[in-house]
Amino acid sequence: MGLLVVGSVAIDSVETPFGKVEEALGGSAVYISIAASYFTAPIRLVGVVGGDFSKAHMQILEDRDIDLEGLQIIKEGKTFRWGGKYHYDLNVRDSLYTDLNVFEKFDPTIPTGFKKSAYVCLGNIDPVLQRKVLSRINKPRLVVGDTMNYWIEHKPKELAETLKVMDVLVVNDSEARLLTNEPNLIKSARRIIAMGPKSVIIKKGEHGALLVTGETIFSAPAYPLENIYDPTGAGDAFAGGFVGWLARTDDLSPENLKRAVIYGSTLASFCVEKFSVEGLRDLAYLHIQDRYRSFMNLSRFDEK
Ligand code: AMP
Repeated sequence: MGLLVVGSVAIDSVETPFGKVEEALGGSAVYISIAASYFTAPIRLVGVVGGDFSKAHMQILEDRDIDLEGLQIIKEGKTFRWGGKYHYDLNVRDSLYTDLNVFEKFDPTIPTGFKKSAYVCLGNIDPVLQRKVLSRINKPRLVVGDTMNYWIEHKPKELAETLKVMDVLVVNDSEARLLTNEPNLIKSARRIIAMGPKSVIIKKGEHGALLVTGETIFSAPAYPLENIYDPTGAGDAFAGGFVGWLARTDDLSPENLKRAVIYGSTLASFCVEKFSVEGLRDLAYLHIQDRYRSFMNLSRFDEK
């Protein structure tokens, strides 16, 4: 069946109160693909990099068996680069720079073999590009999408068009409020559903995630980690775990959507334990299952 992932492929430099990395692999498509690769195959990545994208970076993706036929390499250009610095409160970060480089003129080409992908995850990129990708493939079974403050503020009309063709929107709480002008997250989710997606997931950082559909509200806790080193990519790892589980099971029932939210939270929890993609590179499936089960115990209680 296959999962098609489009988004940024980046070289990140990140500093948190607990350390820093330079020239590390990053980008929304990278985190989504690696997280999803624990659940389903093939993962088909669509993105662009420059001549500075190293063999070591490529190897990390190859090690997870990600199909890179849709990754354009513009030899004379530079890869998208992002720098971020986190505050002591890790929910607060400053983007130090966002150099679009080859991403600025990115025109996604979709290899023929990618066009029949049943599952699609639109990582955070220009909503026009997100829609372009959908217009170049066969109609998928499920489209999961992400966005960010930048697009909500700068391309609201284009984003509104893209929301109409998304089945599940994954956003964080501040993005949901900004998108709908509504401070209450449940009302905000309902407004988003009225814009197009059938379901909305609102991520609340260390306070977990909320899944809202027409019929269901499901609140998932975040895993209570004592050591968080780098929150970069947590939201994308969440989306990857979520859509990866749905692609694996091919079951879009409300109960399975809840399981997918917990798998998303599980992958996000591994992501933040190390810098860049290190926390996601080499996970044993049993380790993922263990953490998934401990999520159940986090909020299970007896009546008496
Ligand atoms: P997250 O922490 O989930 O917001 O994702 C962080 C990743 O998004 C980093 O690896 C960055 O390279 C990438 N990123 C940051 N800004 C942008 C942007 N404007 N467009 C696409 N990707 C971005």
